[in-house]
Amino acid sequence: MTSKIRLEPEPYQSILESGGELSQQQAMELYLHPDLHGVGALADWFNRLKNKDLVFFNINRHINHTNICINKCSFCSFFRESGHPDAYELSLDQILQKAKDMPDDCTEVHIVGGLSSSLTLTYFEEMFRALRSNHPDIHIQALTVVEIEHLSSISGFPVQEVLARLKAAGLGSLPGGGAEIFDPEIRAQICPAKISGDRWLDIARLAHQVGLRTNATMLFGHIEKIEHRVDHLLKLRSLQNETGGFQSFIPLPYLSENNRLASTIDPTGQDRSITPPRQDRAILPPRQDRAILPPRQDRAIPPPRQDRAIPPPRQDRAIPPPRQDKAIGPSGSDILRTYAVSRLVLSNFQHIKAFWIMIGKKLAQTSLLYGVNDLDGTVREENIAHSAGASAGSELCADELLELVRGVNKTPAQRDTLYNILKLYEGKQCEGKLNGGKNKTNDIDEVSEIMGGDP
Ligand code: SF4
Repeated sequence: MTSKIRLEPEPYQSILESGGELSQQQAMELYLHPDLHGVGALADWFNRLKNKDLVFFNINRHINHTNICINKCSFCSFFRESGHPDAYELSLDQILQKAKDMPDDCTEVHIVGGLSSSLTLTYFEEMFRALRSNHPDIHIQALTVVEIEHLSSISGFPVQEVLARLKAAGLGSLPGGGAEIFDPEIRAQICPAKISGDRWLDIARLAHQVGLRTNATMLFGHIEKIEHRVDHLLKLRSLQNETGGFQSFIPLPYLSENNRLASTIDPTGQDRSITPPRQDRAILPPRQDRAILPPRQDRAIPPPRQDRAIPPPRQDRAIPPPRQDKAIGPSGSDILRTYAVSRLVLSNFQHIKAFWIMIGKKLAQTSLLYGVNDLDGTVREENIAHSAGASAGSELCADELLELVRGVNKTPAQRDTLYNILKLYEGKQCEGKLNGGKNKTNDIDEVSEIMGGDP
Protein backbone atom coordinates (compact mmCIF):
# COMPACT_ATOMS: atom_id res chain seq x y z
CA MET A 1 0.00 0.00 0.00
CA THR A 2 1.45 3.36 -0.91
CA SER A 3 1.55 6.36 1.36
CA LYS A 4 -0.92 8.13 -0.96
CA ILE A 5 -3.76 5.85 0.01
CA ARG A 6 -2.74 5.09 3.60
CA LEU A 7 -4.55 7.22 6.11
CA GLU A 8 -2.14 9.29 8.17
CA PRO A 9 -3.77 9.11 11.60
CA GLU A 10 -1.61 11.63 13.50
CA PRO A 11 -3.49 14.86 12.67
CA TYR A 12 -6.79 13.30 13.79
CA GLN A 13 -5.22 11.64 16.83
CA SER A 14 -3.67 14.82 18.11
CA ILE A 15 -7.03 16.64 17.96
CA LEU A 16 -8.95 13.84 19.69
CA GLU A 17 -6.25 13.14 22.29
CA SER A 18 -6.34 16.77 23.39
CA GLY A 19 -10.14 16.73 23.75
CA GLY A 20 -10.80 18.56 20.49
CA GLU A 21 -13.45 17.83 17.88
CA LEU A 22 -13.07 16.93 14.24
CA SER A 23 -14.34 19.51 11.77
CA GLN A 24 -16.99 18.97 9.11
CA GLN A 25 -14.21 18.86 6.50
CA GLN A 26 -12.25 16.23 8.45
CA ALA A 27 -15.38 14.12 8.81
CA MET A 28 -15.86 14.27 5.04
CA GLU A 29 -12.20 13.35 4.49
CA LEU A 30 -12.61 10.25 6.65
CA TYR A 31 -15.78 9.27 4.83
CA LEU A 32 -14.12 9.56 1.42
CA HIS A 33 -10.63 8.31 2.23
CA PRO A 34 -9.80 5.12 0.30
CA ASP A 35 -8.03 3.52 3.28
CA LEU A 36 -11.08 1.99 4.98
CA HIS A 37 -8.98 -0.13 7.31
CA GLY A 38 -6.94 2.93 8.28
CA VAL A 39 -10.14 4.78 9.21
CA GLY A 40 -11.28 1.71 11.16
CA ALA A 41 -7.95 1.42 12.99
CA LEU A 42 -8.15 5.10 13.95
CA ALA A 43 -11.69 4.58 15.29
CA ASP A 44 -10.56 1.48 17.20
CA TRP A 45 -7.70 3.47 18.73
CA PHE A 46 -10.09 6.20 19.87
CA ASN A 47 -12.61 3.71 21.18
CA ARG A 48 -9.90 2.03 23.27
CA LEU A 49 -8.97 5.44 24.64
CA LYS A 50 -12.57 5.90 25.82
CA ASN A 51 -13.68 2.38 26.68
CA LYS A 52 -10.52 0.27 27.00
CA ASP A 53 -11.24 -3.08 25.36
CA LEU A 54 -14.69 -3.48 26.92
CA VAL A 55 -17.61 -4.47 24.73
CA PHE A 56 -21.00 -3.98 26.33
CA PHE A 57 -24.16 -5.96 25.94
CA ASN A 58 -27.35 -6.22 27.91
CA ILE A 59 -30.05 -8.81 28.31
CA ASN A 60 -33.35 -7.35 27.23
CA ARG A 61 -36.79 -8.13 25.91
CA HIS A 62 -38.28 -6.16 23.01
CA ILE A 63 -42.02 -5.55 22.79
CA ASN A 64 -43.64 -3.76 19.84
CA HIS A 65 -47.05 -2.78 21.19
CA THR A 66 -48.63 -1.85 17.83
CA ASN A 67 -47.78 -1.76 14.14
CA ILE A 68 -50.56 0.71 13.33
CA CYS A 69 -49.04 4.01 12.30
CA ILE A 70 -50.38 7.19 10.76
CA ASN A 71 -46.96 8.39 9.55
CA LYS A 72 -46.44 5.82 6.77
CA CYS A 73 -42.73 6.49 6.27
CA SER A 74 -41.60 5.19 2.87
CA PHE A 75 -38.64 3.23 4.30
CA CYS A 76 -40.75 1.46 6.93
CA SER A 77 -41.80 -2.16 6.41
CA PHE A 78 -43.31 -2.54 9.85
CA PHE A 79 -46.36 -0.27 9.84
CA ARG A 80 -49.89 -1.21 8.81
CA GLU A 81 -52.89 1.03 8.35
CA SER A 82 -55.71 0.66 10.82
CA GLY A 83 -58.09 -2.02 9.52
CA HIS A 84 -55.41 -3.95 7.65
CA PRO A 85 -55.64 -7.70 8.34
CA ASP A 86 -52.11 -7.72 9.83
CA ALA A 87 -52.64 -4.62 11.98
CA TYR A 88 -52.46 -5.22 15.73
CA GLU A 89 -52.52 -3.43 19.06
CA LEU A 90 -51.50 -5.29 22.19
CA SER A 91 -53.71 -5.03 25.24
CA LEU A 92 -52.11 -4.42 28.62
CA ASP A 93 -52.67 -8.08 29.47
CA GLN A 94 -50.84 -9.14 26.32
CA ILE A 95 -47.94 -6.81 27.15
CA LEU A 96 -47.69 -8.23 30.66
CA GLN A 97 -47.82 -11.76 29.25
CA LYS A 98 -44.92 -10.99 26.93
CA ALA A 99 -42.98 -9.40 29.77
CA LYS A 100 -43.35 -12.61 31.77
CA ASP A 101 -41.41 -14.33 29.02
CA MET A 102 -38.23 -12.40 29.82
CA PRO A 103 -34.92 -14.28 29.71
CA ASP A 104 -33.00 -14.98 32.91
CA ASP A 105 -30.98 -11.99 34.10
CA CYS A 106 -33.07 -9.67 31.91
CA THR A 107 -32.65 -6.08 33.08
CA GLU A 108 -34.51 -4.13 30.42
CA VAL A 109 -37.78 -4.14 28.57
CA HIS A 110 -37.57 -2.16 25.33
CA ILE A 111 -40.90 -0.92 23.98
CA VAL A 112 -41.46 0.93 20.70
CA GLY A 113 -44.23 0.89 18.10
CA GLY A 114 -46.24 2.88 15.58
CA LEU A 115 -48.36 5.98 16.11
CA SER A 116 -51.89 4.78 16.77
CA SER A 117 -54.52 7.32 17.73
CA SER A 118 -56.32 4.85 19.99
CA LEU A 119 -53.34 4.22 22.31
CA THR A 120 -53.49 7.14 24.68
CA LEU A 121 -51.14 8.58 27.27
CA THR A 122 -53.14 6.72 29.92
CA TYR A 123 -52.51 3.40 28.14
CA PHE A 124 -48.76 3.94 28.47
CA GLU A 125 -48.96 5.18 32.06
CA GLU A 126 -50.92 2.07 33.01
CA MET A 127 -48.53 -0.14 31.06
CA PHE A 128 -45.44 1.25 32.78
CA ARG A 129 -47.03 1.11 36.26
CA ALA A 130 -48.08 -2.49 35.73
CA LEU A 131 -44.67 -3.50 34.41
CA ARG A 132 -42.90 -1.88 37.35
CA SER A 133 -45.32 -3.45 39.77
CA ASN A 134 -44.78 -6.96 38.34
CA HIS A 135 -41.04 -6.52 37.71
CA PRO A 136 -39.77 -3.93 40.19
CA ASP A 137 -36.12 -4.14 39.08
CA ILE A 138 -36.71 -3.89 35.37
CA HIS A 139 -35.65 -0.76 33.47
CA ILE A 140 -38.24 0.44 30.97
CA GLN A 141 -36.66 1.92 27.86
CA ALA A 142 -39.57 2.97 25.71
CA LEU A 143 -41.04 5.36 23.14
CA THR A 144 -39.11 7.24 20.52
CA VAL A 145 -39.08 11.00 20.52
CA VAL A 146 -41.58 10.76 17.63
CA GLU A 147 -43.99 8.75 19.80
CA ILE A 148 -43.62 11.29 22.61
CA GLU A 149 -44.62 14.11 20.25
CA HIS A 150 -47.59 12.03 19.06
CA LEU A 151 -48.77 11.47 22.66
CA SER A 152 -48.48 15.18 23.28
CA SER A 153 -50.53 15.90 20.20
CA ILE A 154 -53.37 13.46 20.96
CA SER A 155 -53.49 14.23 24.70
CA GLY A 156 -53.20 18.00 24.42
CA PHE A 157 -50.48 18.06 27.09
CA PRO A 158 -47.17 19.78 26.36
CA VAL A 159 -44.23 17.48 25.68
CA GLN A 160 -42.60 18.34 29.04
CA GLU A 161 -45.70 17.18 30.87
CA VAL A 162 -45.99 13.98 28.82
CA LEU A 163 -42.37 13.17 29.64
CA ALA A 164 -42.81 13.96 33.32
CA ARG A 165 -45.97 11.83 33.60
CA LEU A 166 -44.41 8.86 31.84
CA LYS A 167 -41.32 9.15 34.01
CA ALA A 168 -43.49 9.19 37.12
CA ALA A 169 -45.22 6.03 35.84
CA GLY A 170 -41.90 4.20 35.48
CA LEU A 171 -40.30 5.18 32.18
CA GLY A 172 -36.53 4.94 32.63
CA SER A 173 -35.06 6.17 29.34
CA LEU A 174 -35.78 6.70 25.63
CA PRO A 175 -34.32 4.48 22.92
CA GLY A 176 -33.45 7.18 20.38
CA GLY A 177 -35.30 6.13 17.22
CA GLY A 178 -37.05 8.37 14.72
CA ALA A 179 -34.04 10.59 14.05
CA GLU A 180 -33.57 9.12 10.53
CA ILE A 181 -31.67 11.90 8.71
CA PHE A 182 -32.16 15.44 9.96
CA ASP A 183 -31.79 17.13 6.56
CA PRO A 184 -35.24 18.56 5.68
CA GLU A 185 -35.10 17.74 1.95
CA ILE A 186 -34.23 14.08 2.51
CA ARG A 187 -36.74 13.87 5.34
CA ALA A 188 -39.46 15.26 3.04
CA GLN A 189 -38.85 12.35 0.69
CA ILE A 190 -38.56 9.45 3.12
CA CYS A 191 -40.81 10.46 6.02
CA PRO A 192 -42.82 13.59 5.16
CA ALA A 193 -45.35 13.14 7.98
CA LYS A 194 -42.72 12.73 10.68
CA ILE A 195 -41.60 15.56 12.96
CA SER A 196 -38.72 17.63 11.61
CA GLY A 197 -35.12 16.99 12.54
CA ASP A 198 -35.08 20.21 14.58
CA ARG A 199 -38.16 19.09 16.51
CA TRP A 200 -36.54 15.70 17.16
CA LEU A 201 -33.56 17.51 18.68
CA ASP A 202 -35.85 19.82 20.71
CA ILE A 203 -37.71 16.90 22.28
CA ALA A 204 -34.48 15.01 23.00
CA ARG A 205 -33.29 18.16 24.78
CA LEU A 206 -36.51 18.28 26.84
CA ALA A 207 -36.13 14.60 27.76
CA HIS A 208 -32.59 15.25 28.98
CA GLN A 209 -33.86 18.24 30.96
CA VAL A 210 -36.41 16.11 32.85
CA GLY A 211 -33.68 13.58 33.66
CA LEU A 212 -34.40 10.93 31.03
CA ARG A 213 -31.30 9.68 29.23
CA THR A 214 -31.73 8.85 25.55
CA ASN A 215 -29.84 7.23 22.73
CA ALA A 216 -29.59 8.69 19.24
CA THR A 217 -29.86 7.01 15.86
CA MET A 218 -29.24 7.72 12.18
CA LEU A 219 -30.86 5.83 9.31
CA PHE A 220 -28.32 5.70 6.48
CA GLY A 221 -27.74 4.09 3.11
CA HIS A 222 -30.94 5.13 1.32
CA ILE A 223 -31.09 8.36 -0.71
CA GLU A 224 -29.02 10.60 1.52
CA LYS A 225 -25.50 11.79 0.69
CA ILE A 226 -22.41 11.68 2.84
CA GLU A 227 -22.77 15.38 3.65
CA HIS A 228 -26.25 14.70 5.10
CA ARG A 229 -24.79 12.06 7.41
CA VAL A 230 -22.02 14.38 8.55
CA ASP A 231 -24.53 17.18 9.17
CA HIS A 232 -26.60 14.73 11.25
CA LEU A 233 -23.59 13.76 13.36
CA LEU A 234 -22.56 17.37 13.95
CA LYS A 235 -26.07 18.31 15.14
CA LEU A 236 -26.07 15.42 17.61
CA ARG A 237 -22.61 16.37 18.85
CA SER A 238 -23.74 19.92 19.39
CA LEU A 239 -26.75 18.86 21.49
CA GLN A 240 -24.60 16.45 23.47
CA ASN A 241 -22.24 19.33 24.30
CA GLU A 242 -25.26 21.21 25.62
CA THR A 243 -27.01 18.48 27.66
CA GLY A 244 -24.75 15.43 28.00
CA GLY A 245 -27.93 13.35 27.93
CA PHE A 246 -27.12 10.91 25.13
CA GLN A 247 -25.80 7.54 26.15
CA SER A 248 -25.05 5.87 22.84
CA PHE A 249 -25.23 6.48 19.14
CA ILE A 250 -26.72 3.74 16.94
CA PRO A 251 -26.20 3.97 13.16
CA LEU A 252 -29.06 2.03 11.52
CA PRO A 253 -28.47 0.74 7.97
CA TYR A 254 -31.48 1.03 5.69
CA LEU A 255 -33.08 -2.36 4.98
CA SER A 256 -34.90 -2.50 1.67
CA GLU A 257 -37.39 -5.36 1.79
CA ASN A 258 -41.12 -4.75 1.77
CA ASN A 259 -41.08 -0.97 1.73
CA ARG A 260 -41.98 1.71 -0.79
CA LEU A 261 -38.64 3.50 -0.79
CA ALA A 262 -36.90 0.50 -2.37
CA SER A 263 -39.49 0.12 -5.10
CA THR A 264 -39.70 3.77 -6.11
CA ILE A 265 -35.98 4.45 -6.48
CA ASP A 266 -34.03 2.24 -8.83
CA PRO A 267 -30.50 1.48 -7.59
CA THR A 268 -28.97 1.57 -11.09
CA GLY A 269 -31.01 4.33 -12.64
CA GLN A 270 -32.19 1.81 -15.26
CA ASP A 271 -35.53 0.16 -15.77
CA ARG A 272 -35.35 -3.07 -13.82
CA SER A 273 -37.96 -4.66 -16.08
CA ILE A 274 -35.57 -4.89 -19.07
CA THR A 275 -33.66 -7.77 -17.48
CA PRO A 276 -34.83 -10.78 -19.50
CA PRO A 277 -36.42 -13.55 -17.53
CA ARG A 278 -33.98 -16.40 -16.99
CA GLN A 279 -35.84 -18.83 -19.26
CA ASP A 280 -35.42 -16.47 -22.27
CA ARG A 281 -31.66 -16.47 -22.04
CA ALA A 282 -29.49 -18.66 -24.29
CA ILE A 283 -29.57 -22.14 -22.88
CA LEU A 284 -26.20 -23.70 -22.28
CA PRO A 285 -25.68 -27.15 -23.72
CA PRO A 286 -25.81 -29.93 -21.21
CA ARG A 287 -22.40 -30.41 -19.60
CA GLN A 288 -21.72 -33.71 -21.38
CA ASP A 289 -22.13 -32.02 -24.84
CA ARG A 290 -19.45 -29.41 -24.21
CA ALA A 291 -15.96 -29.78 -25.61
CA ILE A 292 -13.97 -31.88 -23.23
CA LEU A 293 -10.97 -30.04 -21.89
CA PRO A 294 -7.60 -31.66 -22.45
CA PRO A 295 -5.88 -32.97 -19.35
CA ARG A 296 -4.22 -30.16 -17.39
CA GLN A 297 -0.68 -31.03 -18.50
CA ASP A 298 -1.67 -30.55 -22.20
CA ARG A 299 -2.89 -27.00 -21.80
CA ALA A 300 -0.86 -23.99 -22.92
CA ILE A 301 1.14 -22.71 -19.98
CA PRO A 302 0.12 -19.15 -19.14
CA PRO A 303 2.88 -16.56 -19.29
CA PRO A 304 4.56 -15.78 -16.00
CA ARG A 305 2.69 -13.10 -14.01
CA GLN A 306 5.38 -10.46 -14.53
CA ASP A 307 4.74 -10.53 -18.33
CA ARG A 308 1.17 -9.45 -17.92
CA ALA A 309 0.07 -5.85 -18.13
CA ILE A 310 0.61 -4.23 -14.77
CA PRO A 311 -2.52 -2.54 -13.46
CA PRO A 312 -2.12 1.08 -12.45
CA PRO A 313 -1.44 1.72 -8.75
CA ARG A 314 -4.66 1.87 -6.74
CA GLN A 315 -4.34 5.53 -5.88
CA ASP A 316 -4.59 6.45 -9.56
CA ARG A 317 -7.88 4.66 -10.05
CA ALA A 318 -11.14 6.50 -9.73
CA ILE A 319 -12.72 5.83 -6.34
CA PRO A 320 -16.17 4.40 -6.91
CA PRO A 321 -18.95 6.49 -5.45
CA PRO A 322 -20.17 5.23 -2.07
CA ARG A 323 -23.19 2.98 -2.30
CA GLN A 324 -25.33 5.38 -0.32
CA ASP A 325 -26.69 6.74 -3.62
CA LYS A 326 -28.50 3.48 -4.18
CA ALA A 327 -31.77 2.59 -2.59
CA ILE A 328 -30.80 -0.99 -1.88
CA GLY A 329 -29.11 -0.34 1.42
CA PRO A 330 -25.51 0.29 2.35
CA SER A 331 -22.69 -2.15 1.59
CA GLY A 332 -20.72 -3.86 4.33
CA SER A 333 -17.81 -1.46 3.86
CA ASP A 334 -20.14 1.54 4.02
CA ILE A 335 -21.62 0.22 7.27
CA LEU A 336 -18.17 -0.29 8.81
CA ARG A 337 -17.00 3.13 7.67
CA THR A 338 -20.11 4.77 9.11
CA TYR A 339 -19.45 3.18 12.50
CA ALA A 340 -15.84 4.35 12.36
CA VAL A 341 -16.58 7.92 11.30
CA SER A 342 -19.37 8.15 13.89
CA ARG A 343 -16.95 7.04 16.61
CA LEU A 344 -14.46 9.72 15.59
CA VAL A 345 -16.89 12.60 15.01
CA LEU A 346 -19.06 11.94 18.08
CA SER A 347 -16.13 12.25 20.44
CA ASN A 348 -18.47 13.38 23.24
CA PHE A 349 -20.58 10.20 23.04
CA GLN A 350 -19.29 7.43 25.28
CA HIS A 351 -20.76 4.53 23.30
CA ILE A 352 -21.29 3.52 19.66
CA LYS A 353 -23.72 0.65 19.31
CA ALA A 354 -24.17 -1.89 16.50
CA PHE A 355 -27.66 -3.30 16.34
CA TRP A 356 -26.62 -6.84 15.42
CA ILE A 357 -30.13 -7.77 14.36
CA MET A 358 -29.87 -5.41 11.38
CA ILE A 359 -26.35 -6.22 10.20
CA GLY A 360 -25.91 -9.87 11.18
CA LYS A 361 -23.62 -11.40 13.75
CA LYS A 362 -20.48 -11.56 11.61
CA LEU A 363 -20.50 -7.92 10.53
CA ALA A 364 -21.42 -6.97 14.10
CA GLN A 365 -18.31 -8.79 15.31
CA THR A 366 -16.16 -7.01 12.69
CA SER A 367 -17.64 -3.67 13.74
CA LEU A 368 -15.93 -4.14 17.10
CA LEU A 369 -12.67 -3.32 15.28
CA TYR A 370 -14.21 -0.18 13.70
CA GLY A 371 -15.12 1.83 16.78
CA VAL A 372 -18.18 -0.05 18.06
CA ASN A 373 -18.17 -0.91 21.76
CA ASP A 374 -21.75 -2.09 22.31
CA LEU A 375 -23.66 -4.95 20.69
CA ASP A 376 -27.06 -4.07 22.17
CA GLY A 377 -28.69 -7.06 23.77
CA THR A 378 -29.86 -10.60 23.59
CA VAL A 379 -33.20 -9.18 22.33
CA ARG A 380 -36.13 -11.55 22.48
CA GLU A 381 -38.70 -11.08 19.67
CA GLU A 382 -37.88 -8.26 17.29
CA ASN A 383 -40.41 -7.26 14.59
CA ILE A 384 -39.38 -3.93 13.08
CA ALA A 385 -36.04 -4.81 11.43
CA HIS A 386 -37.25 -8.28 10.51
CA SER A 387 -40.19 -6.92 8.55
CA ALA A 388 -37.62 -5.01 6.42
CA GLY A 389 -35.53 -8.07 5.68
CA ALA A 390 -33.17 -8.45 8.65
CA SER A 391 -32.13 -12.08 8.64
CA ALA A 392 -30.00 -12.39 11.75
CA GLY A 393 -32.62 -14.11 13.90
CA SER A 394 -34.26 -12.31 16.77
CA GLU A 395 -32.53 -13.83 19.72
CA LEU A 396 -28.90 -14.30 20.60
CA CYS A 397 -27.96 -16.10 23.77
CA ALA A 398 -25.43 -14.52 26.09
CA ASP A 399 -22.88 -17.28 25.30
CA GLU A 400 -23.00 -16.41 21.60
CA LEU A 401 -22.43 -12.76 22.42
CA LEU A 402 -19.45 -13.65 24.59
CA GLU A 403 -18.00 -15.68 21.73
CA LEU A 404 -18.38 -12.83 19.25
CA VAL A 405 -16.57 -10.45 21.58
CA ARG A 406 -13.81 -12.82 22.58
CA GLY A 407 -13.26 -13.62 18.91
CA VAL A 408 -11.75 -10.14 18.47
CA ASN A 409 -9.78 -10.32 21.73
CA LYS A 410 -11.95 -7.90 23.63
CA THR A 411 -13.64 -8.21 27.01
CA PRO A 412 -17.41 -8.75 27.23
CA ALA A 413 -19.15 -6.65 29.85
CA GLN A 414 -22.78 -7.26 30.68
CA ARG A 415 -24.42 -3.93 31.46
CA ASP A 416 -27.73 -2.52 32.51
CA THR A 417 -29.52 0.12 30.44
CA LEU A 418 -27.59 2.97 32.05
CA TYR A 419 -24.24 1.28 31.35
CA ASN A 420 -23.57 0.15 34.88
CA ILE A 421 -21.44 -2.96 34.49
CA LEU A 422 -23.10 -6.01 36.02
CA LYS A 423 -20.59 -8.64 35.09
CA LEU A 424 -17.20 -8.83 33.40
CA TYR A 425 -16.12 -11.84 31.40
CA GLU A 426 -12.35 -11.74 31.03
CA GLY A 427 -11.76 -15.43 30.47
CA LYS A 428 -13.38 -18.03 32.70
CA GLN A 429 -11.40 -17.10 35.81
CA CYS A 430 -12.82 -13.57 35.82
CA GLU A 431 -16.48 -14.35 35.26
CA GLY A 432 -18.71 -12.56 37.72
CA LYS A 433 -15.95 -10.21 38.75
CA LEU A 434 -18.43 -7.49 39.63
CA ASN A 435 -20.54 -9.87 41.65
CA GLY A 436 -23.65 -9.94 39.49
CA GLY A 437 -24.24 -6.22 39.72
CA LYS A 438 -23.87 -5.79 43.49
CA ASN A 439 -20.74 -3.66 42.93
CA LYS A 440 -21.92 -2.21 39.69
CA THR A 441 -20.14 0.76 38.20
CA ASN A 442 -20.11 2.71 34.96
CA ASP A 443 -16.68 4.20 35.53
CA ILE A 444 -14.36 2.66 32.94
CA ASP A 445 -11.21 3.47 34.96
CA GLU A 446 -12.71 1.91 38.06
CA VAL A 447 -13.33 -1.23 36.00
CA SER A 448 -9.63 -1.25 35.12
CA GLU A 449 -8.74 -1.25 38.79
CA ILE A 450 -11.21 -4.01 39.63
CA MET A 451 -9.72 -6.11 36.85
CA GLY A 452 -6.20 -5.40 38.08
CA GLY A 453 -4.89 -3.47 35.12
CA ASP A 454 -5.78 -2.08 31.79
CA PRO A 455 -8.60 -4.30 30.50
S1 SF4 B 1 -40.85 4.40 10.95
FE1 SF4 B 1 -42.08 4.67 12.81
S2 SF4 B 1 -43.22 6.56 12.41
FE2 SF4 B 1 -42.51 5.80 10.41
S3 SF4 B 1 -44.18 4.52 9.64
FE3 SF4 B 1 -42.75 3.15 10.70
S4 SF4 B 1 -43.58 2.99 12.75
FE4 SF4 B 1 -44.52 4.79 11.81
